[in-house]
Amino acid sequence: MISNHVIDLSHTLENGMPVYPGSDIPKIEQIAGVATHGYAETRLNMLTHTGTHIDFPAHLIEKGFTIDRAPSGRFYGPGIVIDCRLGKSGKIIRRSFLHQFESRLLKTDFVLFCTGWSQLWNTPKYNENYPMLDEEAAEYLATLNLKGAGFDTPSADPVGSENLPVHHILLSNNIFLIENLTNLGLLVDRSFHFACFPLKIKDGESSPVRAVGIMS
Ligand SMILES: [Zn+2]
Repeated sequence: MISNHVIDLSHTLENGMPVYPGSDIPKIEQIAGVATHGYAETRLNMLTHTGTHIDFPAHLIEKGFTIDRAPSGRFYGPGIVIDCRLGKSGKIIRRSFLHQFESRLLKTDFVLFCTGWSQLWNTPKYNENYPMLDEEAAEYLATLNLKGAGFDTPSADPVGSENLPVHHILLSNNIFLIENLTNLGLLVDRSFHFACFPLKIKDGESSPVRAVGIMS
């Protein structure tokens, strides 16, 4: 049965998919097939930051929080989508823009920024000049009681950023980042729970996730 109630917010993992500039490309290989071997098996060789994935504090912080130590409840909870499309927020998403959503932000676990950028997935433009939060906006989010912040862009900071300020501000406050989300437009003004369960990787700083929005 197909459920319209669960919205898939994840990109497909496949050979040739976009990766962060300079990163290793994933290699997905069928090493056995039903016709030839009687069973199918696939080998997945890729960085954990490939496709729709979660970043943990240990990504940037020495001895930071890791995936295997997080209780599974940290990956699930009420979410809101902030619509940043059509010039609503501008390319830089500022604290002053976020203030109008404060009453909802105070009651949610996850905030997801819908910039519409996921439409550029699989095009050369995807990794260039995408919208993002400024540091003040990230500091504001850090004052809220959030589990995570999600983006439909390659990163929460610009490509090539050396000090990754938005990552640092959020991760040092134990707010996880979810990057390369898609379909967020389907959840604007909807009431939903967000889920982004990662693989339980020992000492893991990141993992691919199957992110979904579960509408109430
Ligand atoms: Zn990452």
